[in-house]
Amino acid sequence: MPHQIARVALDVPLPRLFDYRGSGLAEADVGRRVKVPFGRKERVGLLLDIADTSDCPPEKLKAVLAVDRQQAPLADDVLALFRFCADYYHYPVGQIALAALPTALRRWQFQAPGPVIRFALTPAGRQALPADLPARAVAQRRLAARLASGPAASTELGALCGNAAPVLRAWLQKGWLKTVQEDAAAQQAAPPRLREEQQAACDAVSARLGEFAPFLLHGITGSGKTEVYLRLVEQVLAQGRQALILVPEIGLTPQFTQRVAMRFPATAISVLHSGLAEGERLTRWQSAQAGRARIVLGTRLAVFTPLPELGLIIVDEEHDASFSQQEGLRYSARDLAVFRARQREVPVVLGSATPSLESWHNAAAGRYARLTLAARATGASLPALGLIDTRLEKLDEGLSRPALKAIGDTLGRGEQALVFINRRGYAPALHCPACAWVAPCPRCSARLTLHLRERRLRCHHCGHEERIPAHCPACGNPDIRALGQGTQRVEEALARHFPHAAVVRADRDATRRKGSWEAMQAQIHGGKADLIIGTQLIAKGHDFPNLTLVTVLDADGALFSLDFRAEERLFAQLMQVAGRAGRADKPGQVLIQTGFPQHPLFAHLLAHDFAGFAREQMDLRRAGMLPPFSRQAVLRAEAGRLADALDWLAAARALAPASPTVEVFQPVSAPMLKKAGLERAQLWLQSVSRSDLQQLLREWAPKLHQLPARNVRWQLDVDPVEN
Ligand code: ADP
Ligand code: ZN
Ligand code: ZN
Repeated sequence: MPHQIARVALDVPLPRLFDYRGSGLAEADVGRRVKVPFGRKERVGLLLDIADTSDCPPEKLKAVLAVDRQQAPLADDVLALFRFCADYYHYPVGQIALAALPTALRRWQFQAPGPVIRFALTPAGRQALPADLPARAVAQRRLAARLASGPAASTELGALCGNAAPVLRAWLQKGWLKTVQEDAAAQQAAPPRLREEQQAACDAVSARLGEFAPFLLHGITGSGKTEVYLRLVEQVLAQGRQALILVPEIGLTPQFTQRVAMRFPATAISVLHSGLAEGERLTRWQSAQAGRARIVLGTRLAVFTPLPELGLIIVDEEHDASFSQQEGLRYSARDLAVFRARQREVPVVLGSATPSLESWHNAAAGRYARLTLAARATGASLPALGLIDTRLEKLDEGLSRPALKAIGDTLGRGEQALVFINRRGYAPALHCPACAWVAPCPRCSARLTLHLRERRLRCHHCGHEERIPAHCPACGNPDIRALGQGTQRVEEALARHFPHAAVVRADRDATRRKGSWEAMQAQIHGGKADLIIGTQLIAKGHDFPNLTLVTVLDADGALFSLDFRAEERLFAQLMQVAGRAGRADKPGQVLIQTGFPQHPLFAHLLAHDFAGFAREQMDLRRAGMLPPFSRQAVLRAEAGRLADALDWLAAARALAPASPTVEVFQPVSAPMLKKAGLERAQLWLQSVSRSDLQQLLREWAPKLHQLPARNVRWQLDVDPVEN
């Protein structure tokens, strides 16, 4: 062999591979990590190809320093997924590939994780657990409950509790646990008999196992979608294949993870999310890659996990915005899941109570098969929805009289009430009534949020913080005031109205500390909270059986937004939060305060009519030629001065090739002009044809990388979901 050229993907913002001299490389090394010199440093890269020629003269090429043959190489389909991403999102393949690896593997040397161990309770452990645990040890209790149902692997236990290792070690020392070799037959939570609709959905998917078949599972909250997923996973496991389940945010929904673990107690499950310690993440990822983990349950990044025996992909809450990565490579994990299902020839099930209009459109066009669950699985009735017209009411800290009365009645019956307001902090603004000054963020085009308890003003966009001023900085008036309501202020008001109720506030501020969110959920479950004030955090997938009233404060912001997706998001959010009311045997009630009760969105919402809402939105989108009836991309630029960003975009626009269908709009400033000290501008592209748009981007993107960008940072966003 005269010359061997190693083509290496590196985490460098250039849309190309880097060539090195190789020796003794074999085809089997493709997909392995390599160490290479780059500039004056050494870097870890991924060997993507072995060639015998290079555009660079061979004597100029540097040599590969080392090949990591300890780890298994990445499989071809994962490499193909990276290439597809690079091609579709016009993003450097090396940055995609290295970001998709567990962080430990991005360094050449890393601590090899320990082996997977299986644990079982001893008779002494059965006596002591959970009785001997402190009342507040929520995570330990979860471990104990899991072990009580049968032996479990360290990986699975680690999934239930972020800090499982020291706890398990302590229990081993106390003689409560023993390690076991074999999977003991564990008792399994008995699954319910499927209802007819559920059975039909299951049958439709199982008929297509072993081929590419995309499904949209549209089922109202509590209709038994999760049960359908579990049955399908069971079938796939029985065939000796792996299942990939993607969920929006695992930290928020430990119940979901627990349900999967309980249903498959003898199955190795890898749970992958961003909150994991590095070693833990590596162990779980490698367990999936080696085919040991039979179920991978993860957030968006898990879509890149190597799965040699993949048999099924499920995307729960497929409409959720957190499937869209908004930094670095801006990708949609839902769309990549569909790509992967096609690539691997397996079914993919996208489930939601309020599907994204993109998926709805795909179902209408026959590209996805639609499965519908129209009734609640437990026979519980749907909550009764009602509006409170805030124009006719005097509000006390944002709360209307009918809302307060309904809360009082609910508490009087010994049931729980939830007040939903999607604004954390005490008040969304601090203002001076004398001169109309409003505290601005010095780095963003935004107001500062008042956090009274911490005595700080905070920017929710860039994190800027400052002290609360004693006087108005503009006119000196000492009487400056909180304007509007946030969760803290509503909490205070409710505590005043209902002094005997146990009030809990569930927002990002209250749950920042690790484990506090779980403790809070246990508190609500255990009936130790009467009144809950929450943001969207609480709207996601929690099942609180004694919760019968949901009050929504101020839903109006999204009704007149410039963002054409705002109504879609609001509808999904309101449906989701409404789904929290009355899940068990008690009927639920939902009250929404609005100044626009005539808005058509509410008519559909009150009738629980997603299809009607979708039809109306689709008409608007069609009329405006907006997605899903067209495809968009946006080129974003930011700079110290807006003019620089606009100039760069104008130069970029001049380089755009002509296309029969792609409209390239003029550069404009972003809706939120300034963020974190930089001024932002954007350039939109739109076409009825995805392939025309892609064709244009393919020619254009390389030129963008060559366009000098002094003081300007830019990025291209394909299928953007934010404006
Ligand atoms: P979704 O995922 O659509 O919100 P779940 O699968 O969580 O719905 O089901 C809601 C509740 O109904 C759960 O408590 C679940 O155990 C129960 N459930 C699901 N399917 C059935 C069934 N066929 N019979 C009885 N209960 C069911
Ligand atoms: Zn003033
Ligand atoms: Zn800011």
